[in-house]
Formats: sequence, C-alpha cells, structure tokens
Amino acid sequence: MIWTNWARNVSAEPARQEQPASEEELSDAVRRAVKDGHTVRAVGAGHSFMPAAATDGVQLNLDHLDALHRVERDPDTGHALVTVGAGMRLHQLNRILAERGLAMQNLGDIDRQSVAGAISTGTHGTGARFGGLATRVRALTVVGPDGDVVRAAPTERHDLFEASRLGLGATGVLSTVTVEAVPAFDLYAVEEPWPLDRVFEELDDLVAGNDHFEFYWFPATRRALTLRNTRVDAGVSAGSGLAHGMRKAVGACRSFLDEEVLSNALFGTVNRIATLVPAATPTLNAISARALSARRYTAPSHHVFCTHRRVRFREMEYAVPRAAVVGVLNQLDAWQRATGENVPFPVEVRFAPADDVWLSTAYGRDTAYVAVHQYWRLPYARYFDAAEQIFTAAGGRPHWGKMHTRDADYLAGQYRRFEDFRRAREAADPQGVFANPYTERVFAI
Ligand SMILES: Cc1cc2nc3c(=O)[nH]c(=O)nc-3n(C[C@H](O)[C@H](O)[C@H](O)COP(=O)(O)OP(=O)(O)OC[C@H]3O[C@@H](n4cnc5c(N)ncnc54)[C@H](O)[C@@H]3O)c2cc1C
Repeated sequence: MIWTNWARNVSAEPARQEQPASEEELSDAVRRAVKDGHTVRAVGAGHSFMPAAATDGVQLNLDHLDALHRVERDPDTGHALVTVGAGMRLHQLNRILAERGLAMQNLGDIDRQSVAGAISTGTHGTGARFGGLATRVRALTVVGPDGDVVRAAPTERHDLFEASRLGLGATGVLSTVTVEAVPAFDLYAVEEPWPLDRVFEELDDLVAGNDHFEFYWFPATRRALTLRNTRVDAGVSAGSGLAHGMRKAVGACRSFLDEEVLSNALFGTVNRIATLVPAATPTLNAISARALSARRYTAPSHHVFCTHRRVRFREMEYAVPRAAVVGVLNQLDAWQRATGENVPFPVEVRFAPADDVWLSTAYGRDTAYVAVHQYWRLPYARYFDAAEQIFTAAGGRPHWGKMHTRDADYLAGQYRRFEDFRRAREAADPQGVFANPYTERVFAI
C-alpha cells in the first residue's frame, strides 16, 4: 500500500503497515520487524513536508495508542502532568485538557498532528516567553529495537530523554508522552493589518509586549496582517464589550485569519487564479492585504492558537536568530521583486525564546521563525532555493518536519549538542533499526 503525506509531496511503499492497539502489540510489531530484517518508522498524522515518516520497512501507525493514561501533580512544582498515548492527536489532547480545566501552554497553527509527531519534529507556536511543544515534555516511554519499553525523563536516562523528545523517532517508537499542562486560559486576540515597515519599527515592543505575537507578510506588497494574543483567565473577557460579544461567536465563525485569509474558499480561488494567471498575483496580494479589517475576540486558547488549513500548500521554515529577522525579510522581498516570482501565499513570521532541548531549532538563542509557503499546484523550487540561501546565510536552522536541503555537516555546525544527540541515538539503536534515508541524511547515521 502506498503511503502519502498531507502535502502530497512525499510517498512511500512500506513493506507492511501495522496499527498496534496496545503497548504489547507495539513491542511485538517492532520485534517482528527486526526478526524479518526490516527497518521501522512510526507515523503520526503525516503532516511533515519531509520524508520523516517514510519507509520501505515497517510503518507503524499509532492511532490506536491514543488513550489518556494519567493526570497527576508534580510533587515538587504542583504543576499538572498529563500522560497520554503517543498517537493521540493534538485536538484530542486539547479537548481532554479543557475538560479538566487545563491547556497546553502554547500550540502551533493546527491541531491535526499526533503528540509524538509534533514533538519529534520540534513543532512550535509563537511567543517570546513560550517555547515549542517539546519544551513541555516531562517524561516518555520509548520502545527500543529489542521491543523493550523504556522510561526516560530528565532524571532518568537523561540522554535518551533529550534525544527522544525531539529526535525524529530515531531512538525508537514513543509509546507514551507526559506533558506539563497549565490551567486553562483564554486568549484575547487582536488581528490588524499593518504596513510592514511599521511592524519592523515596532518589532521589539510587539514581540516583548505581547504574549503571542506573529505576522503574515504578503509578498510583492509592504503590508502585513499582525496577530497579537494576550493570555487572560478562562472565561474572563479582556478588552471591550465587542471582545466579550464575540466570545460566543468565535466557535461558529472562527478567526478572521482562518476563515477569510488562509483556509477558505476565497483563498483557494485566489491561489487558483494565481496559478492560471501568474501576472495577477501582486494585485491579488495587494487586494488581500488591503481587504483585511481589524478584528478582536476572546476565546479558549486552543481555539485561538489552532485554525483549519484547507488550502493545501508546501512549506519551508527556518529558525533564524531573532536579531536577523528584518534583514532576512528585506532580502526575501528584494529577491521576489527582482524575479517577479509568483507567490500568492503570505510569509509567516513567529517568535520563540531560547530553550535547552538538544535539537530544538530555538536551542540556546532567541529565535524568529520565517516560513515560506507555496500553493501545492505551483512550482516552489526556485522560491524555496532562494529563501534557503537567505536563511542559511543568516545561520538559520531548518524546521525538522518542513522542506529543506540541509545535511548532517551543516546541522552539526548549528547545534551545540549535535554530537551528544548522535551518541544517544547510537546507544539506543546501534543497528539503525529506526533509520530511514531522511534520518541518515540529517544525522549521518
Ligand atoms: C497544515 C500544517 C500546519 C502546520 N503548522 C505547524 C506549526 O504551526 N508549527 C510547527 O512547528 N509545525 C507545523 N507543521 C508541521 C507539523 O507540526 C510537523 O511536521 C509534525 O511533525 C507533524 O506531526 P505528525 O503527527 O503529522 O507527524 P508525522 O509527520 O507523521 O511524523 C513526524 C516525525 O515524527 C515521527 N513519529 C511520529 N510518531 C512517532 C512515535 N510514536 N514515536 C517516534 N516517532 C514518531 C515520525 O517517524 C517522523 O519522523 C504544520 C504542518 C502542516 C501540514
């Protein structure tokens, strides 16, 4: 059976696909694969743009390992620790947490991914004080090449923990993941179109002064849609009566960005026109950027963080040092204007604090993420090549699940703990049972 990812740019023909229904079945599946001489890859929701989950060996789908195992209090900090099956989807996790008055501290743009897939590629959201999902992991269980289930935590098999909480599944198959949750909260969301130059002028304040700031820049224009989200107590409306009034409505009409810019039929139409009539793209982008109007609302955090993406696209995203982001965007703008490249998708810019996860794209430095997208029916190679040259010249680190051409030589220069990661992976899986061509390329297995 052919497996294809969400973006339809990666497919694979696994020797067999299995869907274990318990940890024991997962262990057995790994043992059987090894006995039959196959390699093994776990797959989540297939939302990576790279062949991270692709294999010609045994592909393990963990959709049935999606149970809530435990909710407990950390005895030292009192924080909520939630242990779930690694195949649980983020939308399930968000619902389960909400039912218990809890939430993830931060989330990315969508909630379709599995917990294991999301952490394994360094999935992140935005916010100068709120790191990616892997920073919230407090413990894991990993099924190794012998089929044994091993627990890893910061104080228990520390190196395996670090290499497994963000490591493309190269140490083994994650069976459970324990994340630290926070009390449920709402977000007061302000979405406003701004001139790009004003965003640049006020960038430091925007990033530092908002809990979650990001913006979408429309290529061939100097305009951006800014998104500022402020954390407020659950159920307590911040700001105006309008915000309060929209609280109820948001479930039905979702965010402006979601419905009117990135995922709706209109945006699909814009992209189809841009594909047929490339010369129309700058005008379409200018209209999109100008047509946006301000909007404010308050809603539970996961409803604001996560939107639906129904228009299919390809994506490359690099983490660059926070201080480099304006230069990077100006170079992208100059290249697009010089070439007239047809880019109907906005460029997404997000922020994260320095963290200490060995292979986190924000490891050790305050970070800005710059994501270039292209409609799936349009050619992307020239655009992404040019963007990647600009990103790498700025010392960029590619998102582990999004398109890039980097290899272990480049990445070793980007991550101070790269060799530590390689040692931990080698110790966990000396025969490379959990390797595939992508992990061979990026980790030099
Ligand atoms: C529309 C869209 C929006 C996105 N938005 C964001 C965003 O806002 N922020 C961001 O950072 N990223 C984003 N991404 C990227 C996405 O979060 C990552 O690619 C993520 O890995 C996808 O999760 P998945 O469950 O689909 O994993 P898959 O793509 O299926 O797998 C990813 C990796 O995890 C491994 N893996 C999966 N399950 C296990 C397991 N049980 N044990 C060990 N390894 C495992 C796989 O082998 C593979 O290496 C987006 C992608 C799309 C398509």
